[in-house]
Amino acid sequence: MQDADTLIEPHKKMRLWLNLGFIALLIGGWLYYPLGYFLLVCMVGAMGIGMSKGRYWCDWMCPRGNFLDTFLKRVSFRKDVPSLFRHPAFRLAWLLILMTMLATKLPPVWGDFYKMGKPFVMILTVTTVVGTVFGIIYHERIWCMFCPMGTMANWLGRGKMLLKVDTACINCGICKKVCRMQINPGSYRESGLVTHGDCLKCSYCVESCPQNALGFNATGLK
Ligand code: SF4
Ligand code: SF4
Repeated sequence: MQDADTLIEPHKKMRLWLNLGFIALLIGGWLYYPLGYFLLVCMVGAMGIGMSKGRYWCDWMCPRGNFLDTFLKRVSFRKDVPSLFRHPAFRLAWLLILMTMLATKLPPVWGDFYKMGKPFVMILTVTTVVGTVFGIIYHERIWCMFCPMGTMANWLGRGKMLLKVDTACINCGICKKVCRMQINPGSYRESGLVTHGDCLKCSYCVESCPQNALGFNATGLK
């Protein structure tokens, strides 16, 4: 089995740059609106990668995800997230809220490259505030459980790059404890595949399993 550290460590080293980028975007966006267009890069990245690797983007490539993991984790109460926050209707509602924001704010400034960046900066700010408030109350990655981009990657990436669970699993629950999306890989032991669409393909559970019962086909772990 390939050591999961070899997959995780390079990603962790990128954290500093992604965090600095996120903070610069959040503050700099209000000083120079076109920085907001970076949201489109994230959208294309999350959905593009989503088509072949599910929510892989959300693990370490998303600047916001890194910010939540690094800073919010320190102040979060880290409670179980109520299922409402993952419910398709709740997720769809957030998608509609953000789409409505764009549909109402963009037309009045259409054609003005500078001003058209502002609605994207507004979205980045609003979603960061919502993610931070709920992240403190519940869990640092709660935003990722209903983030519209993550939801799209979830829908597009269903069945892609699935985590495998083999019969060596003793259902100890360690993998659930380390999972930032509060997924329980051990509970998929019977089917052998973690089909949960919100899996970030991060390998944290792979690294932590005392039985070496977890791995990804696509990465050659098993
Ligand atoms: S950590 Fe490994 S052994 Fe424990 S429940 Fe998860 S998959 Fe099973
Ligand atoms: S199930 Fe494992 S690979 Fe998927 S998000 Fe949770 S810890 Fe990461």
